[in-house]
Amino acid sequence: MHPGSILAPEPEVAEADHICDSHKTTCCVVGGGPGGMMLALLLARQGVPVTLLEQHKDFDRDFRGDTIHPSIMEVLDQIGLAEPLHRLGHAKIYGPTVQIANTTFNPIDLRRLKTRFPYIFLVPQARFLEFLADEASKYPDFRLLMGANVEQLIEENGQTSGVRYLGPDGMHEVRAPLVVGADGRFSRVRHLAGFEPIKTSAPMDILWFRLPHIPGDLPEGEGRVLGGFAAGRMLAVFDRFDYWQVGYVFPKGQYQNLRAAGLEALRQSIVEVEPAFAEQVTTLTDWHQFSLLSVESSRCPRWFKPGLLLIGDAAHVMSPVGGVGINYAVQDAVVAANILAAPLRDGRVQPRHLAKVQQEREWPTKLIQAAQSAVQSRILTSVLSSQTAPRIPWFVRAFFATPFLRDIPARILAFGVRRVRVNKEGVQGFA
Ligand SMILES: Cc1cc2nc3c(=O)[nH]c(=O)nc-3n(C[C@H](O)[C@H](O)[C@H](O)COP(=O)(O)OP(=O)(O)OC[C@H]3O[C@@H](n4cnc5c(N)ncnc54)[C@H](O)[C@@H]3O)c2cc1C
Repeated sequence: MHPGSILAPEPEVAEADHICDSHKTTCCVVGGGPGGMMLALLLARQGVPVTLLEQHKDFDRDFRGDTIHPSIMEVLDQIGLAEPLHRLGHAKIYGPTVQIANTTFNPIDLRRLKTRFPYIFLVPQARFLEFLADEASKYPDFRLLMGANVEQLIEENGQTSGVRYLGPDGMHEVRAPLVVGADGRFSRVRHLAGFEPIKTSAPMDILWFRLPHIPGDLPEGEGRVLGGFAAGRMLAVFDRFDYWQVGYVFPKGQYQNLRAAGLEALRQSIVEVEPAFAEQVTTLTDWHQFSLLSVESSRCPRWFKPGLLLIGDAAHVMSPVGGVGINYAVQDAVVAANILAAPLRDGRVQPRHLAKVQQEREWPTKLIQAAQSAVQSRILTSVLSSQTAPRIPWFVRAFFATPFLRDIPARILAFGVRRVRVNKEGVQGFA
């Protein structure tokens, strides 16, 4: 359990419909992922009473990406947290290495960008969330409730005015003029609010698994994301210090075929893409070691209604292309805090403020999703349908060799389509 968290005692008898207590705050954030945690921190810094409800008892979770992009680091730097974050165990990536048929290609070099942090900072997501929670806990207006599973919205006079959550000792209520659903891709808040995301399915699915580090297997050190391709399969490999986190990318809908072909066939296929894993794959002996990610991209047409706002994956699930999900969730949080802190503090938050958050964040989301979709349909589809190791087309190499073009993908990877900054009040905090 996180030291700053409050966890109710173990239940003697949990009565589902009996409300144990009701607590009032100004902003109730549901979900302690990167988006919810950053929003809660920025609001608390500005003197807005905020309660964050997280259903899990700690921040340890299945692999969900460890990437802190330059834009997040710049935001943390604005509020004095970039340097302390660097004290946590981390690795840095200056650009992914793409490996095809024994040739390597480094399309993106973040070092060419104008930023103090020209790298993707890799830190286990649980440590990053604990770090933000520790920081937020320094502010008296922040309250974190772990093991709090939101089950209902409180609706009064046509507006959301709080939530009911199930804690270890039963049902509780939090009342607030604003509820923010930052509860991820399967958002309960979104469902309860009656919002339906429009989904686009990507042409691939991913099996995630771990492989042990064996000295000398792949270059270690700075940390790297490695994409390898062979015969209709791809691997994305992340160095997680004591093991490799591997994503095996394959055409959508073929999971049952993979299962039917058996583990030996899968092990062989992995080694075909990355021969250096020949020894490690012998540790893959059970399908339980794999988790399947059905890749999709989605976006809610509407992110708000009176008293309620969605941010992060709850509002838009990003495709894994470029690994921008964490970045976008944090950017949503920064924009939401910039727009909402003052009206929340003054008790005058209106739907027009919530609409402004959607307005500022929707178009960057649409643009990046369109770019991801283009990469998926043009490049990944042809790679995944190829039976031989693909070659990098000349025009792709030419693009990345042209000085004024080559940094565009790097800038988008680093900052999204729009650089987001904490506003002056947010930087100063609330005295
Ligand atoms: C396998 C995988 C790999 C990924 N890799 C990357 C990557 O490399 N880079 C990248 O940028 N993105 C990656 N992503 C995407 C990234 O994880 C998300 O885009 C990002 O975490 C979204 O942040 P969020 O705060 O909106 O939601 P989340 O991180 O999903 O957080 C939501 C939180 O809400 C909590 N919650 C849910 N329901 C309730 C409830 N009813 N009550 C209370 N709490 C609730 C959850 O427990 C969770 O802590 C990956 C995703 C997956 C699945």
